[in-house]
Amino acid sequence: MDLEIFQTEVGLISNFNYLIANRETGACAVVDPAFEVDRLLRELASRRWRLTAVLVTHTHHDHVDGVEAMVQATSAPVYVGAAEADALARSAPSAKVTPLQGGEQLDVGGLRIETLPTPGHTVAGISYVVDGNVFTGDTLFVGFCGRSDFSGGDAATLYRSLRRLADLPEETRVWPGHDYGKTPTSTIGWERTTNPYLLCASEAEFIALRTGKNAPRPPKK
Ligand SMILES: [Zn+2]
Repeated sequence: MDLEIFQTEVGLISNFNYLIANRETGACAVVDPAFEVDRLLRELASRRWRLTAVLVTHTHHDHVDGVEAMVQATSAPVYVGAAEADALARSAPSAKVTPLQGGEQLDVGGLRIETLPTPGHTVAGISYVVDGNVFTGDTLFVGFCGRSDFSGGDAATLYRSLRRLADLPEETRVWPGHDYGKTPTSTIGWERTTNPYLLCASEAEFIALRTGKNAPRPPKK
C-alpha cells in the first residue's frame, strides 16, 4: 500500500489531526477530527483524496468535536469503540456509526485498517494499525501514557492496553493523540526502551506509577 500520513497540530492542548491516505486509490481516513475541520477538508481537496472513514480513538471532546462537521461535509462512516458509541451519537447525531470491539480488520475504500482494543484512558478506547503505523489516541504518547483518572478510566486496564501496544513490531511508527513528547512521533521500539510507563515490570508497579503523586507527565505546552 502506498501510504501517506498527514499530521497537523491543532487546538490549545496540542492535539494532533491525522489524514491517512492510500495514494493508489485516493481513499483516506481521518483520525479524531476535533478542530479545524475546514482545513482538513481543504487538505483533502488539494490532494484529491476522498474521505472513506472517520476513525475515533475515544470520545473526549478534544477528539470528536469536529466529527459532526466532517460527516456533514463528506458522509463518511464513523468507527468508535462500542461502549462509547452512544457518547459519539450525542456529539455527532448525523454520524453513521460502526461500533468496534477491537480486533476487526476494516477495508475502507482500499485502506486496510486493523483495530486494537486499548481501553483504560476511557472505557472503550481503540487504536488503529495501518501498514506499520499505529494511531494511539490518548493511550500512548511519545514518552508518556494517558491518564486513567477520568470517568471510565482504569489504571489496570490501561496497563494491559499498553502491553498490547508494546507487543506490536518494534519498527511500528507511533502517532499519538497529542504533541506531548520530545518528538511528534516515535516507534514502539523506542517507547519500549525509554517510556517509563512501558518500562514497568508489573501491573502493580505501573498502577503505583500512574496513580502516584510523581507520575511522569508532559511539560505544560
Ligand atoms: Zn482523552
